[in-house]
Amino acid sequence: QSAPAREAIRIVDRLRDNGFLAVLAGGCVRDALLGRTPKDFDVATEATPDSVQRVFGKRHTIAFGASFGVIGVIPPRSKDGSRESLPPTEVATFRADGTYSDGRRPDHVTYGTAEADAARRDFTINGLFYDPAEDAILDYVDGIADLQSMHLRTIGEADRRFDEDKLRMLRAVRFVTTLGLSVESATLAAIHQHADSLRVVSGERIGAEMRRVMCQGDAGRGLQLLVDTGLSRHVWPGLDAMNWAKLRSCWQRLPEITFETAMATTLSVLSSEAAEAQASLKSLARRWKLSTVEQRAIIAAIEWAPRVVQCVDEPWSNLQPILVNRDVDVIVAVAQAIAEDGAGISRAQRELQREPATLNPPPLLSGDDLIEMGLTPGQNFRTWLAEIRRLQLDDRLCTREDAVAWVRQQT
Ligand code: ATP
Ligand code: MG
Repeated sequence: QSAPAREAIRIVDRLRDNGFLAVLAGGCVRDALLGRTPKDFDVATEATPDSVQRVFGKRHTIAFGASFGVIGVIPPRSKDGSRESLPPTEVATFRADGTYSDGRRPDHVTYGTAEADAARRDFTINGLFYDPAEDAILDYVDGIADLQSMHLRTIGEADRRFDEDKLRMLRAVRFVTTLGLSVESATLAAIHQHADSLRVVSGERIGAEMRRVMCQGDAGRGLQLLVDTGLSRHVWPGLDAMNWAKLRSCWQRLPEITFETAMATTLSVLSSEAAEAQASLKSLARRWKLSTVEQRAIIAAIEWAPRVVQCVDEPWSNLQPILVNRDVDVIVAVAQAIAEDGAGISRAQRELQREPATLNPPPLLSGDDLIEMGLTPGQNFRTWLAEIRRLQLDDRLCTREDAVAWVRQQT
């Protein structure tokens, strides 16, 4: 058992000792049954937030979203006095959701039974509880059957569940992609029907789900589902123009799937021109609230990966600036994905083995050197320094003296 699992079970045991029903809930039970490592362990209990705080002591708890009845329990100090570096475990009081009117969140919540708490969850595979005291799964929603047949199905009537909370449609795409499920037919039909109402979901929430979709081996399947259901109109306009066969073969060549390599590869396949791909990225970045670091890497890869693919006969001075780019790993990975012929990649990988002094040698001259030579700063400086750099990289100017002599010739 992992440290977070032990900590969650400690919390369940402690609530039990105080007379409260408590269980592990939702994603962690699903992931454990699938043989996957859960991202985090959530506890659900009949104890009210006040009781949870009383059981663990106020100092050992944090009230998260108090209105939704979630308390974070801080892990105890270990024997040597240091805290285990675990985040607080979320302990949520069983609840029954009220009505939904904004398409995202219930208007009010009331505390309820374990059964009601299972029923308000989104998909049957997410509605399971695990009772560690009895080593038993509590399955009020037929989740185990769907896990066994790898089906994603809403709890209750799909139509009403997507009407309540539109984000669930995108969560469906996420679970299908990350867990390799197929969507049960009534659930799929309801997504088709409600796809346009995804409009009310904030771009930031959409971006958070898409980050998880894009980091999967099978992201192409998730993207295709977005297009097939009509969700893509509100997630990624223009995605319907995708050449899926081409995306699949590029994806298979992608050596490392990260959000950045995945986005750059997908955008490169979607648009034949780098400028067009970059414009699409800019508009997605605004909607999804991508960080500047994410954007920088994706843009660099869109722009430079095609040059790496074609670099076999390029002079070193053309290739070198690409290989010293700080996002070179992303660039080369995307080049591998989009290359039909690996010759350019082999050259780039060989050049990357150079010693630092030949991969990125210090410039022979600087602007200050030109001033010391008695020259007046101006447009010529930039041109000359760039040209000196090019000649240096291509071994046509080797020393500072060579460079000075070259400048003298220009004046
Ligand atoms: P992961 O932690 O891997 O992202 P998860 O299933 O735990 O997956 P969370 O977003 O952490 O997803 O949510 C925890 C649980 O809360 C879910 O398993 C589900 O039971 C419930 N849940 C989350 N979001 C919703 C929602 N929009 N509607 C209904 N139930 C939800
Ligand atoms: Mg979770």
